[in-house]
Amino acid sequence: AFDVLIVGGGPAGASAAIYAARKGIRTGIAAERFGGQVLDTMAIENFISVQETEGPKLATALEEHIRQYEVDITNLQRATQLVPNTKGGLHQVHFASGAVLKSKTIILATGARYRELNVPGETEYRTRGVAYCPHCDGPLFKGKRVAVVGGGNSGVEAAIDLAGVVAHVTLLTHNTLRADAVLQRKLHSLPNVDVILNAQISEVKGDGKKVNGLSYKDRSSNEFHTIDLEGVFVQIGLLPNTEWLKGTVELSPRGEIIIDDRGQTSLPGIFAAGDVTTVPYKQIVIAVGEGAKASLSAFDHLIRSSAP
Ligand code: FAD
Repeated sequence: AFDVLIVGGGPAGASAAIYAARKGIRTGIAAERFGGQVLDTMAIENFISVQETEGPKLATALEEHIRQYEVDITNLQRATQLVPNTKGGLHQVHFASGAVLKSKTIILATGARYRELNVPGETEYRTRGVAYCPHCDGPLFKGKRVAVVGGGNSGVEAAIDLAGVVAHVTLLTHNTLRADAVLQRKLHSLPNVDVILNAQISEVKGDGKKVNGLSYKDRSSNEFHTIDLEGVFVQIGLLPNTEWLKGTVELSPRGEIIIDDRGQTSLPGIFAAGDVTTVPYKQIVIAVGEGAKASLSAFDHLIRSSAP
């Protein structure tokens, strides 16, 4: 059995694994896809001290760093069930393959995924004009025209944020705006933002290399329109990968794992870190810090609870 078992091999999990291994305790990490969301991104320019890198490069660097230590790595394994031992014994994680791993403490770092539009062109032009994270990719569209799809808080926040960076923003929403009134007021005060309500996105258009337009159906008139632009930010939800945890650790109404300021979940000995948790702002640099924090908390738990 492990002292610490980390589930998830993104930035949060990798950081947790390195911090645990450096304490000299038995550390395991199991992931469905090592690297996590980082694998789906190209330019990364906000991982502090690394001016510019690419997702797959950073994913390889994370793995190489872990391999410097004695960490048991299990890749391509999807966790399907957590069986916590509330009496202080070993917790278990069951995998789709039938394998079961046991550990004194667990760190959940299964991340999140952006909800997609599921329209033609979205996948084709991903990282070539289709983006999901304004903090990450906003500066790449400096002086260009973009659309933000989504009328909730994240969509309106993204539009306000991008309006300060890009030339023009068109915000499209399926019904009406659902964001907080204060955000809506701010949005409407900006000179370079248009809002289109009742829009059903039908296609992301491109020239084969890059995005050059967005088509939508006006749901009140059933007419189709196309906007010329260079970028599309999809802001229709970030889904935490917690389906497999239902009925165990406490989740927020959004399905995120609720943690305290030490990364502790509602169950003793079970910690969580990164995009899968309630911690605000889903970023690599934050996930890395949260992973370190959860790992130190797990170590603290071990030295307080186990015999020497
Ligand atoms: P993830 O990276 O989501 O990793 C989760 C890990 O858990 C993966 O290994 C996954 O396979 C595994 N997993 C999930 N479910 C299971 C399961 N049931 N069993 C086993 N393993 C499981 N952030 C930035 O700071 N800068 C950027 O430029 C940037 N650009 C981005 C571009 C795109 C297109 C996307 C999608 C995200 C971007 N982000 C960026 C956000 C950043 O990637 C995330 O904040 C970060 O990866 C979160 O790390 P994490 O370890 O918490 O989760």
